[in-house]
Amino acid sequence: MASTATPMMKQYLGLKAEAGDCLLFYRMGDFFELFFDDAKKAASVLDIALTARGENNGQPVPMCGVPVHAAEGYLARLIKAGCRVAIAEQVETPGEAKARAKREGTPSSKVLVKRDIVRFVTAGTLTEEALLEPRRANMLAAVCDVRGTCGVAACDISTGAMMLEECIPERLPAVLARIGASEIVAPEGWATRALGENAEMVLRAVSTFSSDAGEIQLKAIHGVATLDGFGGFSRAMLAAAGGLLAYLDHAGRGNMPLLLPPFARSHDGHMAMDEATRASLEILASQQGGRAHSLIAAVDRCVTGAGARLLAEDLSAPLAHKPAIEARLALVQYLFSDPLLRGDLRGLLRALPDIGRALGRLVAGRGSPRDLGQIRDGLSGARRIHDMLKDRADRPAMLEALLPSLTGHAELTDLLGSALVPSPPTERQNGGFIAEGYDHALDELREVSGNARRAIAAMEARYRADTDTPSLKIKHNGVLGYFIEVPAKHADKLMAPDSGFTHRQTMANAVRFNSLTLHEEAGRIAEAGGRALAAEESHFEELMEAVAARREAIAGTAAALARLDVSTGQAERASEGEWCRPQISDDPVLDIEAGRHPVVEAALAASGERFVANDCALSSNDRLWLVGGPNMGGKSTFLRQNALIILLAQAGGFVPARSAHIGLVDQLFSRVGASDNLARGRSTFMVEMVETAAILSQAGERSFVILDEVGRGTSTYDGLALAWAVAEAIHETNRCRCLFATHYHEMARLAETCDALSLHHVRAKEWKGDLVLLHELSEGAADRSYGLAVAKLAGVPAPVVKRAKSVLDKLEKGRAETGGLAAGLGDLPLFAAALEAAEVERDGLRDTLNSLDIDALTPRDALDMLYRLKREA
Ligand code: ADP
Repeated sequence: MASTATPMMKQYLGLKAEAGDCLLFYRMGDFFELFFDDAKKAASVLDIALTARGENNGQPVPMCGVPVHAAEGYLARLIKAGCRVAIAEQVETPGEAKARAKREGTPSSKVLVKRDIVRFVTAGTLTEEALLEPRRANMLAAVCDVRGTCGVAACDISTGAMMLEECIPERLPAVLARIGASEIVAPEGWATRALGENAEMVLRAVSTFSSDAGEIQLKAIHGVATLDGFGGFSRAMLAAAGGLLAYLDHAGRGNMPLLLPPFARSHDGHMAMDEATRASLEILASQQGGRAHSLIAAVDRCVTGAGARLLAEDLSAPLAHKPAIEARLALVQYLFSDPLLRGDLRGLLRALPDIGRALGRLVAGRGSPRDLGQIRDGLSGARRIHDMLKDRADRPAMLEALLPSLTGHAELTDLLGSALVPSPPTERQNGGFIAEGYDHALDELREVSGNARRAIAAMEARYRADTDTPSLKIKHNGVLGYFIEVPAKHADKLMAPDSGFTHRQTMANAVRFNSLTLHEEAGRIAEAGGRALAAEESHFEELMEAVAARREAIAGTAAALARLDVSTGQAERASEGEWCRPQISDDPVLDIEAGRHPVVEAALAASGERFVANDCALSSNDRLWLVGGPNMGGKSTFLRQNALIILLAQAGGFVPARSAHIGLVDQLFSRVGASDNLARGRSTFMVEMVETAAILSQAGERSFVILDEVGRGTSTYDGLALAWAVAEAIHETNRCRCLFATHYHEMARLAETCDALSLHHVRAKEWKGDLVLLHELSEGAADRSYGLAVAKLAGVPAPVVKRAKSVLDKLEKGRAETGGLAAGLGDLPLFAAALEAAEVERDGLRDTLNSLDIDALTPRDALDMLYRLKREA
């Protein structure tokens, strides 16, 4: 790279222009090299040496490189760090480049091997085993807006699953939070910040989000004349699909990954949860970000990656349709009641490879012989599971429906069984994966090279004897091929002109030779080997096609196995932890006996402590529970455990309780006062209020809401006032089932006016001056707050606690004299009356306006009137 004009630099810059903001991996022999800013970025992310190569415009060109054989590991780290990478490969051999130079009449020293970008590696378009987490789906989503309706297309190209849906713009964040994509594609001009914080954003030309193009592409991919067979798709859905497919086409450079027929997702079959609720319930990840201490970590007993991925999907999108929930519950029940069957099933499932992902790699053209082996083993395993279940009596309907998907691949498994060796390698270039007996011509070629190898071994013994050099060896390397090597001190014997050996190379301690016979045998090996490799390669292609031809049936088997694993795992979890089958109904109730929080319980169990189970009993005439009691008393835990029990039940699993009667919930809301969300640039209290506002405007009679210390993020007076008004509004207007934790004692007075509200508290007592938190829920208002006792428990130094005690005494004395924080609340009109008063005021305004004769007003009067109306409003 001596000057700007070098052909290589020109080629590089051309490819870099195509790569855009992706890092360009430029293939140079055994390395991928990066230059300029790409090199700086990669070197810092990967912590590898940044060097320089040549000059450009008189400046040294920064450079770094990674070996091709280890590229996957480096790619994984770059993707994790939020980078996208374009891979530029050599698309002709040096020999081909030379031949081309000759044809074109360019001096061969000037000719450069052709390179092309063969693929873009991005977070949402991965299929490689090393780059994916086995227990997590990897979603790519595309969003767009068609006349005020948002279209969303999402797919997991590692397994081919694809889903289309639409929603109103306000719901888009909730939909995207549910999908949890690692990469989101949106039309240029969109504000990406609003789309989520955990995904990479890509903006693409608006024209790619075309519903016509989307429809045409989907039809072409699935070879159908109409999409009706897959369900009804709106224009918004198809436009999003258009954007998604155009992006996949771009990322794979025309190589489409595995895509199964899309399905249209409707919202009414599912329980709605917004982003804040998901985060606060820590469903798939804890607030710290990892899977540890999340709901799924406490529930997941799946023995396959595909099962764990489906469980995550179930928990992210619980159902809201009773028959669908009952169908899942019946299967869990069946497996729960039969521990022997469950054990056998888990044993078989555990041994199964991830056929969904192997299929994804094969169809995307990135498959290996090992993936073919996985398909063979997975499909045979599915068959064994089928045979185990097929004669059993009383199968629940869901199992009945799954059974046919577990079989029907005999022809393919026979083919793969006879074609492949037992454990095929991950590399296909070196052959060795086609079994003996599958192809006689291949067997013969192998025989030839085997014979030649044996001949060479015999030759070695003969040469040792002939030259009287026991240390003579016949070796092989990539540069020389086969050669004879002797230690330098014995070289003379072979150097003699009539020895039959020709000298090839002198090393420090050894000298290397060739011989005519060796040359001939080596030629035989090379020729037979080359032909054998070509034969294996063509078998690989055939087998891959045979697999691809059955892609939908194989994906169906993978899905059936995943569902079996989820249900078996749920049954296993239930039997481990004495969980029960929930009773689902349409009544607005929540009746939970001895409920527990699965995550807190597991954490306590780890340190040998016991979780205290608590009941919850909400119904239409007791639908709002105010929960008081000291800090650390277990209020949050109680609130969340009930939300989680609902979620688990509607996801179709058993729940951690002695018994649970759950009236279907259509929307679940969870809010925690003043949580930190500074990343979004809003103050904590603002976040608290925005989230609370969403509940007040959305929750209905079939919703379930938990509010944890709402109002805590501001001053005492403001906080109490807001908490008070929010509780009243929930009670009067939303009329949903709600658990409301608060440390404001004053709120107890709400029970006087709200008849479907009742008071509860977590119990605590002081024993010999120490606070004992019983974590036990009891009826009635909390008697006191024990704040100082909690402070003492937490290790606040004794003098500080003592001082606080005297301040408290003073404050309490003042409260007794003045009536305290809640003084005057007794005169407050009822919430309903307040609502009415607001109406009346508005009516007053309307009356005044109606009675106005605008034409009779002078401009001056009109202005006065406006001022007056404004004052009254
Ligand atoms: P609060 O919301 O009242 O401040 P939390 O619900 O955060 O209290 O609970 C504080 C701690 O108390 C939890 O981390 C847990 O260790 C313990 N805890 C809560 N509920 C229970 C329970 N039912 N049984 C046993 N320990 C509990």
